[in-house]
Amino acid sequence: MIEAIGYSILGFVLMELSGWAIHKYLMHGPLWSIHKTHHEHSDSFFELNDLFSLLFGSIAILLIFLGVGDLDYRFWIGIGISMYGMLYFFLHDVLIHRRMKWLDRPRKGFLKGIFSAHQAHHQSRKREGAVSFGLFLVPRKYFKN
Ligand SMILES: [Zn+2]
Ligand SMILES: [Zn+2]
Repeated sequence: MIEAIGYSILGFVLMELSGWAIHKYLMHGPLWSIHKTHHEHSDSFFELNDLFSLLFGSIAILLIFLGVGDLDYRFWIGIGISMYGMLYFFLHDVLIHRRMKWLDRPRKGFLKGIFSAHQAHHQSRKREGAVSFGLFLVPRKYFKN
């Protein structure tokens, strides 16, 4: 049981850390042509940038598939990545970008900090010069009022 929780948390934390690095160094680097579709205004619901979510989702499904027989570390890391993915979807796609109009923009507290930090990321429509690349891993100043 403690292993299940530990590996799930590990999967979750690894996603934020690797997501931060991938966003900063690859998406705002060699993979900008894909990621820029998330920094431009578009009228279509899907963006080419959604391929990244598809990729991370596939990795999680693969790990769960590989580990489900013995319920080993691969299964639980896959669960952690999936939980991160669902939370990311709710915070980034629903709450921040309002792809589904389910929630109003947050006006106070932790969620407002997350919101402001990501808005700051979108201030730039260019590859260079963007700030706050993580979802949670962002400068502290966005959480101060
Ligand atoms: Zn970006
Ligand atoms: Zn965004």
